[in-house]
Amino acid sequence: MRDERSSGIDRRHFLALSAAGVLTALGLGRFAAARAESEREGADVASAKAAKGDGSFEPLEKSKAEWREMLPADRFAILFQEGTERPGSSPLDGEKREGTFVCAACFLPLFDSSAKYDSGTGWPSFFEAIPNHVGTKRDFKLLLPRTEYHCARCGGHQGHVFDDGPPPTGKRYCNNGLALEFVPAGDVLPALRT
Ligand SMILES: [Zn+2]
Repeated sequence: MRDERSSGIDRRHFLALSAAGVLTALGLGRFAAARAESEREGADVASAKAAKGDGSFEPLEKSKAEWREMLPADRFAILFQEGTERPGSSPLDGEKREGTFVCAACFLPLFDSSAKYDSGTGWPSFFEAIPNHVGTKRDFKLLLPRTEYHCARCGGHQGHVFDDGPPPTGKRYCNNGLALEFVPAGDVLPALRT
């Protein structure tokens, strides 16, 4: 009897300890999961902030030689030698999914798919850029003045902006597809290149 009771107590004690162990393990597991979640959220928040265009990024200073090393030759020619791709050559011209178009050099989000439209020019076109994420300058390459625009973070050339776009802005951002990369909605935006 005595031994049975004692073993019963031991068993209850053992079960209690086990339960505590399981709870501790669960608790720690939850904590680790919560921490991983919050770290992931941190990354997402940074990407989401960048996507909204609150201008919270530092300019990225890199020499053309560095970019030449990092980028494929065709992308480099557009982004850092102000080249223009052949119209109709970019698969991004026909890209109709929801998502974000990021600078192909530094990955700063430049356009949201909600601002994309078919301009019929053969180049991906947008009526609006993400606020503060593109800079502009006058360009006299074709004699008639045009407004060149580029990534506000790395300076990579994107295209030209014209005043014949659709409402609500009336702007047409005529972009080289090679200067952009498309990130479908639901995919994590790439970390900004450093
Ligand atoms: Zn860039």
